[in-house]
Amino acid sequence: LIQIRHLQKSFGNHAVLKDINLSVKDGEVLTIIGSSGSGKSTLLRCINLLETPTGGEILFRGDNILSDDYSLPAYRAHVGMVFQQFNLFENHNVLTNCTVGQVKVLKRSREEAEKIALENLDKVGMKQFASAKPSQLSGGQKQRVAIARAISMDPDVMLFDEPTSALDPEMVGEVLKTMRSLAHTGLTMIIVTHEMKFAEDVSDRVIFMDQGVVAEEGTPEEIFHHPKEERTNIFLQRIL
Ligand code: ATP
Ligand code: MG
Repeated sequence: LIQIRHLQKSFGNHAVLKDINLSVKDGEVLTIIGSSGSGKSTLLRCINLLETPTGGEILFRGDNILSDDYSLPAYRAHVGMVFQQFNLFENHNVLTNCTVGQVKVLKRSREEAEKIALENLDKVGMKQFASAKPSQLSGGQKQRVAIARAISMDPDVMLFDEPTSALDPEMVGEVLKTMRSLAHTGLTMIIVTHEMKFAEDVSDRVIFMDQGVVAEEGTPEEIFHHPKEERTNIFLQRIL
């Protein structure tokens, strides 16, 4: 689905991503782990083009999304993103949060958008809050709404950037549970997380990033129980 070749991103002369190569298959759940500052968020932001790479290519279904004639609005509609800070529209209620994108970008009727939004709110356990404002919700509830909003756009791939790290500990479980059930639907997901147990359970493949490179890549079993690289080992010992 996505192939990344020799991806580079620098800010001024600070090289944050250095020659990243990776591919994500349809239906695959890939998690990215690594220390703070290793470039995980920058990588996700390059994948959905919130940042413009300074080198390399990103292919989506075989087409280079960085070429001049590639349609960015169409691409963005295929890629959903959930951030650490929910980014909900505070002045809109939950239901409207989940319908505006569908109506504006996908040109769905309001009626159809609401039907889809309610189905997805139901999946994340937030249907009964449809008319609540974000300010009335807990962090975990907001994050579940953010997930419902993103999946209402029928993305081909969902990117998650530490979706639980701004949450109080007691809210983390409900969001991880929602993500687990999404993973089981066969949705392609790329997840940056510090929740190692979750990463181990849910991932098909794990990538360990260190200082702007993919230091190691493997199955959860390989990465968490038999890491080949010393730096993977050191990272895991520090975090577990
Ligand atoms: P964390 O686990 O703390 O979220 P991360 O792995 O997501 O870390 P990034 O946010 O990708 O790391 O940042 C990698 C490096 O890139 C950092 O040194 C950061 O200061 C730098 N960086 C990120 N965004 C910018 C920017 N817009 N301008 C300049 N430098 C940036
Ligand atoms: Mg980050």
